[in-house]
Amino acid sequence: MLSLKFLTPFRIIFAISFILAGCTQSADQAGQQQNTTPPNIIFMIGDGMGFEYISAYRYAMSEPGAGTLAPTPFDDLLLGAATTYPDDDTWVTDSAASATALATGVKSYNGAIGIDANKHPQQNMMERARSQGWYTGAISTVHVNHATPASFFTHHPSRKMYEAIADSLATPLQPGVWRFDVLLGGGYRYFSRDDKNWLPELQQQGMTVITEFDQLTTTTTTPVLGLFAAEALPAAIDDQPRLASMTQTALRLLTAKQQQQQQPFALMVEGSQIDWCGHANDIACAVHEMKDFAQALDVVLAYQKEHPNTLIVITADHSTGGLTLGQGGEYAWYSQKVMGITASLEVMTRELLELPRNQWREYLQPRLNLELTEEEWHRIAAVEVPAEAKGRDRQKAIRSAIVPIISSHTRTGWTTSGHTAVDVPVMAIGPGSEAFRGYQDNTDIGKALLKLIR
Ligand SMILES: [Zn+2]
Repeated sequence: MLSLKFLTPFRIIFAISFILAGCTQSADQAGQQQNTTPPNIIFMIGDGMGFEYISAYRYAMSEPGAGTLAPTPFDDLLLGAATTYPDDDTWVTDSAASATALATGVKSYNGAIGIDANKHPQQNMMERARSQGWYTGAISTVHVNHATPASFFTHHPSRKMYEAIADSLATPLQPGVWRFDVLLGGGYRYFSRDDKNWLPELQQQGMTVITEFDQLTTTTTTPVLGLFAAEALPAAIDDQPRLASMTQTALRLLTAKQQQQQQPFALMVEGSQIDWCGHANDIACAVHEMKDFAQALDVVLAYQKEHPNTLIVITADHSTGGLTLGQGGEYAWYSQKVMGITASLEVMTRELLELPRNQWREYLQPRLNLELTEEEWHRIAAVEVPAEAKGRDRQKAIRSAIVPIISSHTRTGWTTSGHTAVDVPVMAIGPGSEAFRGYQDNTDIGKALLKLIR
């Protein structure tokens, strides 16, 4: 019998590995495979997903007072936390600077897409993957040329250059070498414009272009560009869950590529609208986006179980809104009231503008499902929409009347309509996951991922 008594911790691990190695042939084979082939990388970014969003999601899925919490797919994965500050004197990053840090390992200024503070292009994760013969993909629930996916494929001085970013995505790295095998999300209008319609051109060059969500399950060829909305996809609370289906399709297509040629893949999956709900201070919207992201994580974890040589890394680019669970001195956060809300503030405020004021209460009651006081109803009915306001700015006045009411009923706190500088969670599982343990900077995550692509 092997005695563990006098062994150092390292030797114990070695001894246990030695014993376990003899147990099954498949474990042995998996170990050998992991040593020789770099792992597939699935990098999941919850845009705006600070720790507080994970807490909100966990409580919202649990029964208050039951004494136990509902399990979430995040539970076993937490390894550390990361700072997110940009390369300036503000501490508060935007999505572009943070995505650049995560994709290239280099800090930059707010607004930068894949370039450093001196505007020099930095090699990003997908370019490195391509240079090593890997397959690549990205999924977003907003437009695919938005800051996060853009920073994984392109280099631009400003995130606002949406058309130029779309042009870059539609242009091969070199003749015959597309930047991606799978790119799914929204953004149809940026690829099909008055001055340039990329879509027929891309199809002529052999790319599959899909625009209907149902086509996800029937698509079998790559490269594939899926654009399911003119801009962002509808919020999860207003529509069907969508990130899990897109993730399933991307994994199916990338695995099929892998069967032709044994090369790993790098896939970025963005839960993009957690951030948008945070900007809107819309707690119900945020929890539903978290659910959508968690469902995509379920798909990814199931994939990893079947394909153990897959590394999953999950983080956020920053937190948004200064969300807190608890507000106004009361020791409570009413998760069930949050879950009773059935539409996003974006949709509610847009639809209210189309209704006469005397129908607002009738419209809002079944959507908010909160017991508003007469004074609160009066406050909403008396909202003044500035005559000079245009487009979505007209919704702002109504939103600023409803947010404090939802916040006070559910005891949700918000400090800003922008981002915050708090640290974000870092989770990982699979070969190489140890590199993501502890307290780190967002550039360390990017650097560690680039190192694994070889
Ligand atoms: Zn962001």
